Amino acid sequence: MGVLMSQQQAAGSFWQGVLSQIRDRVTEQQFDTWFKTVEPTSCSEDTIELTVPNSFSREWLRKKYADLILGAAASANGGRRPTLRITVREGGDNEPDDVAVMTATAEANGARRGADQDADHHAVLTENVGAARPHPGSSSSTASALEAARGAWLNPEYRFDTFVVGSGNRLPYAASMAVSEKDQRVYNPLFVHGGVGLGKSHLLQAICAAWRARRPSARIRYVPCEQFINQFITAVEKGALESFRKRYREVDLLVVDDVQFLAGKERTQEEFFHTFNALHQRQQQIVVSADVSPREIPGLSERLVSRLRWGMVCEVEAPGYETRLDIVRQCADRLGQELPEEVSAFISESVRTNVREVEGAVTRVIGHAHLSGQEINIAEAREVLRDLVVERRRRVTIDHIAQAVTRHFEVKLAELQSKKRTQAVAVPRQICMFLARRLTGLSLEEIGGFFGGRDHSTVLYGVDRITARSRDDVALRDTVEQLATQALSVAGS
Ligand code: ADP
Ligand code: MG
Repeated sequence: MGVLMSQQQAAGSFWQGVLSQIRDRVTEQQFDTWFKTVEPTSCSEDTIELTVPNSFSREWLRKKYADLILGAAASANGGRRPTLRITVREGGDNEPDDVAVMTATAEANGARRGADQDADHHAVLTENVGAARPHPGSSSSTASALEAARGAWLNPEYRFDTFVVGSGNRLPYAASMAVSEKDQRVYNPLFVHGGVGLGKSHLLQAICAAWRARRPSARIRYVPCEQFINQFITAVEKGALESFRKRYREVDLLVVDDVQFLAGKERTQEEFFHTFNALHQRQQQIVVSADVSPREIPGLSERLVSRLRWGMVCEVEAPGYETRLDIVRQCADRLGQELPEEVSAFISESVRTNVREVEGAVTRVIGHAHLSGQEINIAEAREVLRDLVVERRRRVTIDHIAQAVTRHFEVKLAELQSKKRTQAVAVPRQICMFLARRLTGLSLEEIGGFFGGRDHSTVLYGVDRITARSRDDVALRDTVEQLATQALSVAGS
């Protein structure tokens, strides 16, 4: 017994080390969804054994995160790569409790505390930790359940009044406002797409907050798509589809974030399709986000793509200089610190990728000044952000992509840019277009420009072709993946 305890403790602390590395490599949401419910049962130099709440988590960890876990374990293990065993906990499952239904009344929340069975359909506010159910299947996850409930999904800072509007996001902003303020269903569904860190989740959650303010008794549900999938699989396994359906169909507003994760998940897609229909028929509002437009999500069924395009599809684009400057100012303001004009300008100029990084840069500059007790000045800022500025130079460009592709297919760049349309040239060209869309921030027009002034519909067609073909053609999919990795490594060297 004593030995057992200490084994478990050792496993626990080894696992904590692994987790802390993983935390740096995944988004907070991924971490919360996939890693918080994992428990180590034994960890040795040779084997890591983990238990998870359901078979879907197991598959997902295996497929998507095994390398990451083993890499982290190896580095905590003096370079030796152990084997990984993942099992489903006995009596496992226990859906992560949902924090996603919101209503305005705190009393309602209070009244519902402890009313476990019902917590689902009523007031669970982000702040309302009280309504969180601990995971029955596991001892140590109570704390994480509470933490998740405290607002993993709904951030009180994500509101319309904290959203900086600029040329890149004016349309999605206006559409989100319209969805929140108009009582008619002006856009249903509203589909917002765009690259990471550009404000999609912020807008989606702002919609939830505005709905709540305007319609105190509305039933609102916000769910990251990964969690929707996870809960669906669990419901199937436990024969609890009925309550799953209730959860997602008996709402006035359903907001699903990052639906690109439905790619290749046929059954969940089908379920989502029926959820969509049920809500849409009753004129309930649906809002969805993804990293790309509906047509560009690989492996999404035609009928679902067409539903998702019924309402309004709009894109958030990377902010321009002026918008970045506004964001820098707002962020500094929130941190209670004024920045010298040239420092704001420097940050806005150097950090171009996305809003999250702009905010990160401001936080670093201000944090550094606080720690060192010095005034913020441009020299300091340059020093603090040196690595970010270097990183920018390393970002993937279309040239990196073209380089990897031309080498692989043994074609010349000039051919890709020519009018030639033979298979031997057209396929590599389409792959370039596809990867450029994925890996760079370039617009369809800009990509077309690179390929001898082709127009945006040609680029879209190319991207579509690769998306569609790689659905069934495993070899093609692998090649594309491999080329992506090569482009990234060319860019990084
Ligand atoms: P996405 O969901 O598109 O990956 P997020 O919504 O998570 O991006 O945004 C990343 C961060 O940047 C968040 O902290 C968010 O508040 C902030 N942000 C993004 N766009 C804006 C904006 N236009 N104004 C203010 N903050 C923004
Ligand atoms: Mg997001």
